[in-house]
Amino acid sequence: MTRLYLSPPHMDGDERERLLAAFDSNWITPLGPEVDGFEAELAARSGRSHGAALSSGTAALHLALILTGVGADDEVVVPTLTFAATANAVTYVGAAPVFIDSEFATWNLDPDLLGEFLAARATQGRLPAAVISVDLYGQCADYDRIVPVCEQYGVPLIVDAAEALGATWGGQPAGSFGVFGTFSFNGNKIITSGGGGMLTGDDGDAIARARNLASQAREPAPHYEHTTIGYNYRLSNVLAAIGRGQLADLDRKVARRRAINAMYRDALGGVDGVDFMPWHPRGEPNGWLTVLRIDPAAFGADREQARLHLESLEIEARPAWKPMHLQPVFAEATAVGGSVSETIFDEGLCLPSGSAMTDDDVERVVDALLNSRG
Ligand SMILES: *Cc1c(COP(=O)(O)O)cnc(C)c1O
Repeated sequence: MTRLYLSPPHMDGDERERLLAAFDSNWITPLGPEVDGFEAELAARSGRSHGAALSSGTAALHLALILTGVGADDEVVVPTLTFAATANAVTYVGAAPVFIDSEFATWNLDPDLLGEFLAARATQGRLPAAVISVDLYGQCADYDRIVPVCEQYGVPLIVDAAEALGATWGGQPAGSFGVFGTFSFNGNKIITSGGGGMLTGDDGDAIARARNLASQAREPAPHYEHTTIGYNYRLSNVLAAIGRGQLADLDRKVARRRAINAMYRDALGGVDGVDFMPWHPRGEPNGWLTVLRIDPAAFGADREQARLHLESLEIEARPAWKPMHLQPVFAEATAVGGSVSETIFDEGLCLPSGSAMTDDDVERVVDALLNSRG
């Protein structure tokens, strides 16, 4: 039995030719025409004027926070339901994450809780230095409500669109809201460069500064001159070639992941105790992962029983993200609400969703899930 993975890399375009061409050109450095091309194409695809190609999505978040001026003793709002990278980056600049719960409508940052929190902090005269919003599992947060709330209080918005490349909200691309967008090209994302990330924005000077910070903050001098602390965060030209090949194929990958999601919904949508992550009518998710909730009483098995049954049949499924306010490492952090994300964590199951899956693969997962009811 071949193992079905959650979201494996899928190379089926001209990545190989581009990679070999970059190799043969001897541009095996964090500089070169593939990096420039990848930056321009990714920025254009995600509705921004500029992009800085980086070694990871986490590096992109770190630089976004530095460029926003976030520093020690600042607070930064982070949705509690996310991957740890979002919150980790906040600690890299010495700031403290404040974890805010999700809303059921999108599973993303609850705009009402955000508004209440910012109002309370405004009264105390200590607004957070930034808000990071995450577009979870390929679906944008509700930017119709989040953007105005951030603007009302003058708090910069950074969008962690690591999982949402190719998605839209109100027709606008994921990562185009707020001051900066960040993307990841890790092996499990909708496109991969074998590791990498991108910081995007409309302020060309800020993105140029990001490139400089990512190159050890070298000053323009013939010798090595430094006036600020830098990082080694640039993406290799060789990896950018792979990312460019993948990006050229993004529309097909989105279409396939959405089709897989539709197959799962057709087959399981009517089953008692199964509830899919809702797709908000304002959004057009990229289908990165299909995630559903299992109500044990109605379904006849709980999430963990279902997951272990799939595992016994060589099908990789994962619980939904464990909320950050429940993570031991963030036990001291401030949390606002939390019951929505806790329910999603208790009941949420991510199903294999890779764009290389066949229809038969999807059927195999569906059968296994139905048979997990004992
Ligand atoms: C993958 C991911 C990241 C981090 O990206 P890396 O490239 O692995 O550093 C950040 N945020 C979210 C929500 C992610 O899913």
